[in-house]
Amino acid sequence: MIELVSTSRCTECGLCVRVCPTNVFDDHDGLPVIARQHDCQTCYICEVYCPVDALYVAPYGDQAVTVDEDALAADGTLGSWRAAIGWGRKRVTLAALDTTPFIDRILPSQPALPAEEIAFILAAPAKEPAEA
Ligand code: SF4
Ligand code: SF4
Repeated sequence: MIELVSTSRCTECGLCVRVCPTNVFDDHDGLPVIARQHDCQTCYICEVYCPVDALYVAPYGDQAVTVDEDALAADGTLGSWRAAIGWGRKRVTLAALDTTPFIDRILPSQPALPAEEIAFILAAPAKEPAEA
């Protein structure tokens, strides 16, 4: 569920407001405000579109959790999902990492990734929810 809009990072580009499929945000003079949090589908679309890593969607679709922006920024959580799935310039996409036979049917053949890139992505720690 969407939990955070960082007003210090947000550049008021409006992308998150436009891409959210359930109209969770209101636009307050350019700044997105979480207006209908319980309509959030935990789809992460807003988070991956945000070009400055100003949004945080917690991985719990049925409950709101308390988050601390400074802590999320300090441990690298802000923007980590976007990086992990390869959104952003010069990042490795999940499609490039996927080695299942199915992906070979829909993609042109991909060069093998260096082992250290795969290890970096797989080493990302799982996050526990903060106390509500
Ligand atoms: S996670 Fe999806 S549904 Fe929730 S606010 Fe972001 S775009 Fe909207
Ligand atoms: S996508 Fe990011 S920078 Fe753009 S309005 Fe939303 S929070 Fe702000």
